[in-house]
Amino acid sequence: MFSPKKKTIALVAHDNRKKELLSWTKENKHILEQHHLCGTGTTSGVLSREAGLTIQAYKSGPLGGDLEIGAAIADSRIDMLIFFWDPLTAQPHDPDIRALLRISVLYDIPVAMNTTAANYLIHSDYMDKEYPRQDMQADL
Ligand code: PGA
Repeated sequence: MFSPKKKTIALVAHDNRKKELLSWTKENKHILEQHHLCGTGTTSGVLSREAGLTIQAYKSGPLGGDLEIGAAIADSRIDMLIFFWDPLTAQPHDPDIRALLRISVLYDIPVAMNTTAANYLIHSDYMDKEYPRQDMQADL
């Protein structure tokens, strides 16, 4: 399995962390624009409106958006996940969040859950190269 040079990056933030993701997104707009972007419903709305990014919107997280993104990862349609989840507030869709994180590990995609990790990823040399990911099928 290869992550292509032009990647598809999923962006998700819980309500208390949308501001942080928005400010990270604005700072890195010049890099993000070189890739395909998608995200959960409300996050996508905020980022396209406030940062001027083109971003494919899935359903809102509590309405199944995390699961849709997880399914896209399992289909190799998403190469990277930036997921600013809220460590201080219980979420009604916690099982979906756990599923998304589980599938990201299983399909060996890079995941950043805070600004520093997101910076490490976005400034990595691998961002503009093809990258061979672990083939889950081969391990089963
Ligand atoms: P939202 O979903 O972007 O629709 O707010 C995020 C989430 O709760 O996973």
